[in-house]
Amino acid sequence: MASLDFPTIAIIGLLLNIGLAAGFSLILLVMRGHPVPRLWAASLWASALSTVLLGLQLHMPELASILARNAFAVLGSMLMLFGVALHVGRRAPVRPALALAGAYMLAIVWFSVATPDLGVRLALYSVLIIIWKSWESWLLLRHAPADIRRSCRLAAAVFLLDAALFLVRALIPVAPGAGGDILRAGLPMNVTYVGGMFVMLGHTFALVLLIVERQMVDLRRLARRDGLTGLLNRTALMGDGGQQLAQCVRQRQPFAAMLLDLDHFKRINDTHGHQAGDAVLHHTARTLQRNLRGHDWLLGRYGGEEFVLLLPGAGMEQALALAERLRAALEASPLGRDGGAIVTTTSIGVAIADATPDLERLLARADAALYRAKAAGRNRVACDLAVEPTPAA
Ligand code: GH3
Ligand code: MG
Ligand code: MG
Repeated sequence: MASLDFPTIAIIGLLLNIGLAAGFSLILLVMRGHPVPRLWAASLWASALSTVLLGLQLHMPELASILARNAFAVLGSMLMLFGVALHVGRRAPVRPALALAGAYMLAIVWFSVATPDLGVRLALYSVLIIIWKSWESWLLLRHAPADIRRSCRLAAAVFLLDAALFLVRALIPVAPGAGGDILRAGLPMNVTYVGGMFVMLGHTFALVLLIVERQMVDLRRLARRDGLTGLLNRTALMGDGGQQLAQCVRQRQPFAAMLLDLDHFKRINDTHGHQAGDAVLHHTARTLQRNLRGHDWLLGRYGGEEFVLLLPGAGMEQALALAERLRAALEASPLGRDGGAIVTTTSIGVAIADATPDLERLLARADAALYRAKAAGRNRVACDLAVEPTPAA
């Protein structure tokens, strides 16, 4: 450690910065159009450029070097902060960040021109980084949506470690005799730069982790939803529904299933066009959701113009009453179009689970009931005839 010299550390730091910025930028090749990775890549490049300028300081006018490297460092921090804010679903705090950056740059000018002081400039920089990193950590800890909280917490821990390192750096006095030369700031300061490289690695991996978890959550969500209506798709419905049915059977709770099928839907396509048919399906989903608000029942699109509603805890009486309410609501909510409203009616089959946790079979029974509702003239509710009593508790 005694032989640590700043030029060597600076060169390694510089190469690391460029390598991380370049490596991270590769993510953009597979994630086009995503603003957050783009902001973070730009941030890493701005920080790398700041380090390059530090390396070139002996070949540039001193004041220009100080201002340019600080400006790029501040730009890098600001873009990082904006990316973090967007990542957790907040707006980028442009104004307060610009105000902070402006105040910092004015102070840097003052301590470079009016009363040149390297120690104060380094301390100011440390304080600035502590503020940025605490700000980012606060956003990650306070505002992270629940489903990406794990990566946000981990990233916040790394960012706070970074802030702690700069706190140590702010408290270390610059070696006497360094004068205005950052290259001779002293051994303790150099040690913090080496630590900083490790944190830099961790920092970049934390960014990758944030992106990976967000992508996984988004893809998982997409894979569970029907693209047209936004309701659960058949796979998610059968998966979640199967689990809830098994739990109800185990706990001897009732479980009802409802199959809803739009009446003469083919006619709507034939008369108004396929797009109007799609709009009716979307509208039907919204009407159902509106009427089921406040309940954690499972509503999904089962097939073309068929919807399924699963009601854990509901018995036949409650399910039939709800089915009748939904049928009436759908009939009373035509889809308004330029050429006049499209009225649709719905037939509904209801079945209650017996002691076997078999969702396919339960839905087959609801389908049989639905068939009877269709045969009886449509726009009505029918229940499964083979209702087996729910086992007594
Ligand atoms: P019924 O009252 O007996 O249920 O008659 P129906 O016309 O509703 O039933 P049928 O099964 O004969 O027709 C269903 C139609 O739904 C046929 C198909 O073209 C249409 N369909 C299925 N999926 C979609 C979709 O995503 N969008 C649109 N617009 N139409 C769809
Ligand atoms: Mg059908
Ligand atoms: Mg139909």
